[in-house]
Amino acid sequence: MNYVTHNHVESIAHALFRPVGVGGVYARTGLFEQVIDGLAALISRYRPHDAEIFSFPPVASRAQIEKSGYLKSFPHLLGCVSCLHGTEPEIRAVVEGASAGKAWTGALGATDLVLAPAACYPVYPMVAARGTVPVGGLRFDVTCDCFRHESTHELGRFQSFRMREFVCVGSPDEVVAFREYWKIQALELVRRLALPHQTATASDPFFGRAGKLMAVSQVEQELKFELLIPINSADNPAACMSFNYHQGHFGETWGIETSDGGVAHTACVAFGMDRFALAIFATHGLDLKKWERGVREALSV
Ligand code: ATP
Ligand code: ZN
Ligand code: MG
Repeated sequence: MNYVTHNHVESIAHALFRPVGVGGVYARTGLFEQVIDGLAALISRYRPHDAEIFSFPPVASRAQIEKSGYLKSFPHLLGCVSCLHGTEPEIRAVVEGASAGKAWTGALGATDLVLAPAACYPVYPMVAARGTVPVGGLRFDVTCDCFRHESTHELGRFQSFRMREFVCVGSPDEVVAFREYWKIQALELVRRLALPHQTATASDPFFGRAGKLMAVSQVEQELKFELLIPINSADNPAACMSFNYHQGHFGETWGIETSDGGVAHTACVAFGMDRFALAIFATHGLDLKKWERGVREALSV
C-alpha cells in the first residue's frame, strides 16, 4: 500500500480534482468520475431487491429539516439557501451597491430551502404520508448531493459531496436485522475492492457541549458504526460508509406506524461516494491499468 505518504495523497488529489476557488469544493475529473460510476453500479448490485429508488435534489425543505431535528443537532453544518427578496427597486439598489464595492450579502433573506445535509431525510415524511408501514417493512435506495459547512477541509472532507443510502423503515426487529446484514455485506464489498478497512462504533458530530453527551450515549448504545478506509493516513482512516440505527426518532417525529400499531423504527446505510472513490485511488494508485483484475472487474474500469 502506498497511501501512507502525504505527497502521494497530494499528487492523487491533483490528478483527480481541480480547485474552484473555495476550500472543500472541487471540479472532478473524468478519471475520478469513471470510478464514481463504477462504484455506483457496483453498489446497485447490492441493492435490496424490493428497494424503491429515488434521486433527491441537492436542496431540501427547510421545514422538514428543522422538524427532523437537524437544526437542533447540527446547526453548525447546515447551509440555508438565501435570495434577494423585495421589489425591483430594492433589489436593484443592492446590486448597484455591489458594483460600487458595497457588500450585498447583508440583504439576503432565507428561503424555504436548505442544502440537503444527508440523503435520507426526505424518505421519512414521504413514508408517513402513505400511512401504516406494511409487514416486512420498506426499503429505499436514495441518492443526493449533500452540503456540510465543515470546519476543516482535509482531503476527503468536502463541503459538497455525493451520498447514496439504503434506508429501512419497519419494526425494530426488521430494522436491526437490516443494519446487521449490511455491516456484513459492506465487508464483502470492500474485500472485493481490495481495500484495507476496519469497522468501528462512532458518533455523529453533534453541536456543542450537550451534543458531546448525545455522542457518548450514541456510542454506548452502538447506534452508529462506520467503515473506515485510509485516505490521508493509515493511522487515521476516513469513514467511507456509516450504518445508522435511529430507533424511533423519525417514526415519532413523523408519526410513522407499523401494522401492530407501534412506532416505526428506521435505519440507514450511507455510502460517501466521493470519499469512497478517493479511498480507492489512495489505495490502488492513479493508473487504472495497474489495478488488480478483480478490482477492475468489480468497478468495470
Ligand atoms: P465524518 O465521520 O467524516 O465526520 P459523518 O459521521 O458526519 O462523517 P455521516 O453523517 O454518517 O458522516 O454521513 C455518511 C457518509 O457520508 C460518511 O460515512 C462519509 O463517507 C460521507 N461524508 C460525510 N461527510 C462528508 C464530507 N464532509 N465529505 C465527504 N464525505 C462525507
Ligand atoms: Zn441516513
Ligand atoms: Mg463520523
